Amino acid sequence: MGDTIFGKIIRREIPADIVFENDELLAFRDVNPQAPVHVLFIPKKPIATLDDAIPEDAALLGRLLLAAADYARREGFAAQGYRTVVNCNEYGGQTVFHLHVHLLAGRRLHWPPG
Ligand code: 5GP
Repeated sequence: MGDTIFGKIIRREIPADIVFENDELLAFRDVNPQAPVHVLFIPKKPIATLDDAIPEDAALLGRLLLAAADYARREGFAAQGYRTVVNCNEYGGQTVFHLHVHLLAGRRLHWPPG
């Protein structure tokens, strides 16, 4: 299932504050939050980076993004606003090589990012 820290979270080998799960997706709170709400949405399929996604992953990635949007709506911060981010490789700031969508909310976010 991918030899990353997120693979270990999927397999319950290390703890995480899981906020959503279904058969193909998992979402948990970031251990180093950058906003009052900072949740990571991941596919259980171990895609390393967005650059490794293939056309067959299109529907999965769509559901991943929609899961983040559904969570934001359910938790009541969608109308106020939030940000989703996918970092890719070194210059994108990616540190865990298991594709993930950051969901950041609960404060006004700045643009452009650093
Ligand atoms: P990246 O920099 O790859 O886009 O984001 C990786 C994120 O994973 C970072 O925001 C980091 O704080 C988070 N992270 C790294 N290790 C762990 C962990 O063991 N548990 C949790 N919940 N988050 C982690």
